[in-house]
Amino acid sequence: MSLFHPVNLVCPRCEAPVTMMAVGSVNADRRPDLRDDILEDRFQDCECDSCGESFRLQPQFNYLDAGRGQWIAAMPASRLRDHLELEDEAKALFDSSYGASAPAAARSVGSSLAARLTFGWPAVREKLLVKQLGLDDVIVEMMKLHILRSVESVPMAEGIELRLVEADDEADGYVFAWLETGSEQYLEYMTIPAELYRAIQGNPEGWGAIRARLENGYFVDMQKLYMGEGRQAG
Ligand SMILES: [Zn+2]
Repeated sequence: MSLFHPVNLVCPRCEAPVTMMAVGSVNADRRPDLRDDILEDRFQDCECDSCGESFRLQPQFNYLDAGRGQWIAAMPASRLRDHLELEDEAKALFDSSYGASAPAAARSVGSSLAARLTFGWPAVREKLLVKQLGLDDVIVEMMKLHILRSVESVPMAEGIELRLVEADDEADGYVFAWLETGSEQYLEYMTIPAELYRAIQGNPEGWGAIRARLENGYFVDMQKLYMGEGRQAG
């Protein structure tokens, strides 16, 4: 089931009250249209009746796509700094829904799900896109690490992130964008040759230590390598 509940918001432009149906849980197997909405950057968009301003409710839901083997705890961009705590919460929720403490039927669904934690719309959209393109999201994060080391100036700062936004089949590459997470304002695009993906894929030993760090927990995002001590291996 996909579960919605009403939330009361205030229009950021005219301050009129706006009520919208916020999603708490998305089942993409039953509601493929909601998955499309996320990929098209229009999910949870909302318009003020008084002034026509459109704005977007930040994500805060669980996403299930059993067919594609994805489970995502999608959190608001503003909660990025709490990633360790939210990872624990997401793991407890996953375990009770599809893991060790779930009924047998749910556990069998759970065994084919990769669980992830994301912050903000561009991140959850990216996880759906990566799956659609048949890519490994860990390698996509490694590509970003490589990009950071390779380009001369990066607009990296708090609230700015690098996301895969589309494949460019003609150029045999992938388009990445620097963007502002909260406002989803795109700052800069670059096309990275798919050869980089294949090179990383072909060198699992060289990237083994980085892979272990990225896969340590549901938050598979290179940003965590830059934020504090992180989670201890083990
Ligand atoms: Zn308004």
